[in-house]
Amino acid sequence: MAKTTPMMEQYLHIKSHYQDAFLFFRLGDFYELFFDDAEQAARELEITLTKRGSGDDAIPMCGVPHHSSSTYITQLTSKGYKIAICEQVENPEDAKGVVKREVTKVVTPGTVVEESAVQAAENHFIAAVERLEGERSVFARTDLTTGRTAVMPLENERALRRELSASGMKEIIAAEGETSFWQNAAHEAGVVISEEPELAAVSGENEAFFHNLDETVYQTVAARLLAYLYSTQKRSLTHMQPAVIEEPARYMKLDIASKRNLELVQTMLDQTKKGSLLALIDETKTAMGARLLKRWLERPGFDEPEINRRLNFVEQAVQQSFKRDDLRDALTHVYDLERLAGKVSYGNVNARELIQLRNSLREIPEIQGITASLDESYSSRLEAAFQAMAQLERRLTEALIDEPPVSITDGGMIQDGYHDKLDQYREASRNGKTWISNLEQSERSETGIKSLKVGFNKVFGYYIEVTKPNIPSLPEGRYERKQTLTNAERFVTPELKEKEQLILEAQEQIDDLEYRLFLELREQVALCIPDLQALAAAVSEIDVLQGFAKVSEEKGYTRPSFSTNGRLYLKNSRHPVVEEVVSRHRYVANDIELDPTRRTLLITGPNMAGKSTYMRQTALASVMAQTGCFVAADEAELPLFDQVFTRIGAADDLASGESTFMVEMKEAQYALTHATTNSLILLDEIGRGTSTYDGMALAQAIVEYIHEKIQAKTLFSTHYHELTTLGDTISGIQNVHAACTEEDGRVVFLHKIQDGSADRSYGVYVAQLAELPDAVIERSEALLASFEQQEGTKEAQQVSREEEQLPLFTFEPAPPEIETPQQKTSTAKDSQDEAVLEAVKSVEVLHMTPMEALEKIQAWQKRLNE
Ligand code: ADP
Repeated sequence: MAKTTPMMEQYLHIKSHYQDAFLFFRLGDFYELFFDDAEQAARELEITLTKRGSGDDAIPMCGVPHHSSSTYITQLTSKGYKIAICEQVENPEDAKGVVKREVTKVVTPGTVVEESAVQAAENHFIAAVERLEGERSVFARTDLTTGRTAVMPLENERALRRELSASGMKEIIAAEGETSFWQNAAHEAGVVISEEPELAAVSGENEAFFHNLDETVYQTVAARLLAYLYSTQKRSLTHMQPAVIEEPARYMKLDIASKRNLELVQTMLDQTKKGSLLALIDETKTAMGARLLKRWLERPGFDEPEINRRLNFVEQAVQQSFKRDDLRDALTHVYDLERLAGKVSYGNVNARELIQLRNSLREIPEIQGITASLDESYSSRLEAAFQAMAQLERRLTEALIDEPPVSITDGGMIQDGYHDKLDQYREASRNGKTWISNLEQSERSETGIKSLKVGFNKVFGYYIEVTKPNIPSLPEGRYERKQTLTNAERFVTPELKEKEQLILEAQEQIDDLEYRLFLELREQVALCIPDLQALAAAVSEIDVLQGFAKVSEEKGYTRPSFSTNGRLYLKNSRHPVVEEVVSRHRYVANDIELDPTRRTLLITGPNMAGKSTYMRQTALASVMAQTGCFVAADEAELPLFDQVFTRIGAADDLASGESTFMVEMKEAQYALTHATTNSLILLDEIGRGTSTYDGMALAQAIVEYIHEKIQAKTLFSTHYHELTTLGDTISGIQNVHAACTEEDGRVVFLHKIQDGSADRSYGVYVAQLAELPDAVIERSEALLASFEQQEGTKEAQQVSREEEQLPLFTFEPAPPEIETPQQKTSTAKDSQDEAVLEAVKSVEVLHMTPMEALEKIQAWQKRLNE
């Protein structure tokens, strides 16, 4: 290989420390990438791959302009890559040899803070995880844009997966050598995994961050997170808020499947917010409120006093709708204070954003006043945080003009009268400009040239312009010629040059001084970061709660109360999202009542009759209630649920390559091993993914186990009518069904849940609704009729528990090689013969090959001779 240049040596040396990142190597106005980095980046970013050097020594290279680099960085981080930014850290003119360069920052998917990369209404999380014994671990999660950090113990791997699946989770940090252990979970959640061998030492600067962490494991995981942030950000992070411990016992547990099934923050179909519960109830006015609402929905509370505090506020805000409207108006003007605090710490904030801060602060007294008339406890928090900020608001008002420019280096930000020296420079500049603007008038009258102009351009400065035809009227030697244009000549005078000098000098001094004053101001804001964060936290809560009040009032929701005796009663309950889709007046409201003596509902009824909607609306009522929102019902009394488990709808878990049935069984396993008496379990059509008997047997065993052993509140919808005998025989299990009637030979779904079990499944009707070919429908009807006839003969299946003290599923094995499912169910010899007869009657001779026919006859013969 040819000799490398000193610069390339420098590149290779730096790159060797950042093997897992693209190295953006600063060369003048570009960041250049070389070798494999260049080839891969050119592909990912669709930019041109070039070469540095020629012939055999040529190195693959590509580059992005420095000024537009953030777009490219965002593209790469969103694809899960890391980027090490390597800057020139000395002035090229002062350099002896190669300019000194250093990596000043590593941008990773979880640490990107650029506005273009993070969504306003969404948190952007990075977390560290530390393994404890067994499946236990501790987890520390932060959002670098806001500095809000939560530390939590996780009881098992599933809980870790639940955390990784939280919206906005981007990256996870593990200890050295541990990444492979977490790889699967990270991959499944689409989260990038990184390694951090170090732990940040506690120092004066970050002491507060560790303040609440009273156990060594919590400190360790937080220290690892912080170490990673330091090593990538390479700066002090003054906006990191004290990490708080989130005790699992304070929250309702909702695992990934339940969150997904209940479509809390996104729909199952296309994973978008639209159509989710979040979209329906998000009436927040600020981005911080929107983020908080999402966090709350993903983690409803289990702490009754806290939930009631929220509900008290909502109730007041429902009742006082005028005040609520005023509050909403005021909140509209509140900027994203939480992210602003992060930007201040990063030194990214400009004068415009400080004006937005000032405007937001001006709204706080109004917000506080309204809040005080709604609920004192919330307004006092606001008041405490605002006290320290009032002074800042005054200072910003004095210092900044109302509409400052985006740039912080070109002046034009600071008010007149704020700083004496600045006023003097401005005065000088203004005087000079006045002298110049008077010059045009005086020169016109002295020379008699009416079209004479005084102008300015960046290259030549100030000039006097005279058009060509007027040049002869100009007294000889009056001006010095400076520039010739096609139609005019431009001149200067010694005095004009002197004034120009004065103006330019003054301008430079103004810009410098304004920049300094701005930095001072920013420093002052930086000192207020903790207060700003406290204020942001209080405002976001108020925002979410006023939003709850608005949607609750508009949609006729009710304040829930929490029962201490385990009673659940919802009168005229609705599914909040389905109700919107089918419209309020067409939605059929339903009651539900459960208590410890009636804790399992066995729900039967045809497909499409509204069974899962009914189940989900019950779970959603609990989630909403425990989040602090009113619920979609006319009356609502609920127990506080510690967990909600759902197994609704069949979905193959393609990502993990598991079949529907396996997924279903795993969900059931998890519910059965983790649910408690205080949990709510929804099982929809469990056991459907296997043969009828298997499925039915499992379904029954699961219901019995939950009902008798766990004693959780359970809603269990099933196709297996055989199971409804449980409702008749086991105390506490109640049969209900989704009612429907037939009109003119067509089935009509009433969507009303009534006591008792359904008499039939109406599957063929549903198929008819789905417009299956008539021939198929007719054939199914005929088959159904014959199956039902046989059904009458086989009482053996309806074995009563009281009689046998056994579960219900002591079925005979199915007769082999007989085609239709019904034939499998024959138990006695007579019914076997009958089944063969039926099969002979119904066989489609014209649709069989001779070979198939022969095989069938052989099978029948064998069966009859047994
Ligand atoms: P099932 O679980 O019994 O197959 P679903 O609960 O999925 O039925 O309901 C099917 C459809 O019926 C829903 O998508 C909704 O459009 C409608 N539906 C369900 N419940 C109601 C109701 N209470 N009032 C009005 N329409 C309903």
